[in-house]
Amino acid sequence: MTSDIQRIVVIGGGQAGGHACKTLRAAGFDGHLVVIAEEPHDFYERPPLSKASITADAPLPRLFSASSLAELDIDWRRPQRAIAIDRAAQHVVLDDATRLPYDRLLIATGSRPRLPVAEWASLDRVMTLRSWNDACLLKERLANSRRVGVIGGGWIGLEVASSARQLGLQVDVFERDPALCGRSVGTEVAQAIRELHEHNGVGLSLAHRDIRLSEERDGRVTIKANGKAPEPYDLVVVGTGVEINLELARDAGLKTEYGIVVDAAGHTSDPRVFAAGDVAQHPHLGLCLQSWAYAQNQARVVASAMLGEKAHYDEPAWLWSDQHGVNIQILGVPSGATHGVIRHAPEGPIFFYLDADHRLVQMVAFDQPRAIKLGKRWLASQRVLDPNALADPDFELMSLR
Ligand SMILES: Cc1cc2nc3c(=O)[nH]c(=O)nc-3n(C[C@H](O)[C@H](O)[C@H](O)COP(=O)(O)OP(=O)(O)OC[C@H]3O[C@@H](n4cnc5c(N)ncnc54)[C@H](O)[C@@H]3O)c2cc1C
Repeated sequence: MTSDIQRIVVIGGGQAGGHACKTLRAAGFDGHLVVIAEEPHDFYERPPLSKASITADAPLPRLFSASSLAELDIDWRRPQRAIAIDRAAQHVVLDDATRLPYDRLLIATGSRPRLPVAEWASLDRVMTLRSWNDACLLKERLANSRRVGVIGGGWIGLEVASSARQLGLQVDVFERDPALCGRSVGTEVAQAIRELHEHNGVGLSLAHRDIRLSEERDGRVTIKANGKAPEPYDLVVVGTGVEINLELARDAGLKTEYGIVVDAAGHTSDPRVFAAGDVAQHPHLGLCLQSWAYAQNQARVVASAMLGEKAHYDEPAWLWSDQHGVNIQILGVPSGATHGVIRHAPEGPIFFYLDADHRLVQMVAFDQPRAIKLGKRWLASQRVLDPNALADPDFELMSLR
């Protein structure tokens, strides 16, 4: 570890910030560790917020136990916002004008829900879901609702739809594109997800380019899509993607594209400043993944690099979603695939997308986590696969370990 590092500041008390702090201490950093966190809570993870946090009496999904957290010896600045980074002076400026010096800085500011129409924010019964506070409010509102409208047929919208059905509510999803989750999976997967939702009683309205919301006198919300408006909804949840929280970095003159541009060790264009999690553009894929695994594992690598260790993040994209009791795992991204193979196994379907040389590019598995583990090995070894064998449900995939 480099001895000139006495003060580390982390902006963002989320998943990436938490795992970075844990790694810094585990690697022997015993200097001053400051976390600037806009939210008042201890580090927590977000996947449960669209699932158990709204369907059950689940507590804040903390990343660490109280004793593990205390051992990190963090100087918390919360709830407070970082409003500027003065790179020349190596200071972070807080919303109360405090200036915090740093030797190394980690930006782990995540992302925020994007609203397609700014005015929707003023509608009382229209909401988005990002934080624990949002999840608590959503849970309370679901308890007082009969009909729920969801705008956006991506992962978060569909998970909210699934949770609302689990609570016995009527749910309709409105999506702009003709397919669900169209930006991250192929048409065959989108169709399977569609069937899963239809089978579980979710109303799906796809290919609605023009979606308008209006508030009724009683507060309920009418969703008008392509000129048609069903009965108003008690609650509308908008899940139409995110904005990356990269303003601090951009205003400080760091290189940004979709997110903050980082190398495989998380270095930004300033050698003293690093970025991790949603806000850090994937070093190889050139896009911002919003994935639990990336927020955890990339942040761990970056924390090691902050202390001067040789570190390199090279994991493939991997995320999961739970909908109507089915665990869907997505490994890799669809770009570069030339053809797809579907395996209709008794446990659930697996969708393989291969390149022209029959190497795996992306894989989506329903209720088959072991197959995904195998896929990770195939990706790492660039294994050439036989499409006929993959498609044959009698062929033992594990023989390709
Ligand atoms: C509802 C929901 C469900 C999800 N489900 C899944 C799933 O099933 N599987 C999966 O793989 N991924 C899932 N994800 C994605 C995953 O949770 C995110 O990719 C992950 O949380 C990103 O971690 P992060 O630390 O980069 O950002 P965050 O966890 O968002 O943390 C960033 C923190 O920084 C704070 N912050 C921002 N700006 C400032 C500032 N200027 N000053 C101080 N603090 C600031 C924010 O308030 C926030 O607390 C889900 C996300 C959500 C919202």
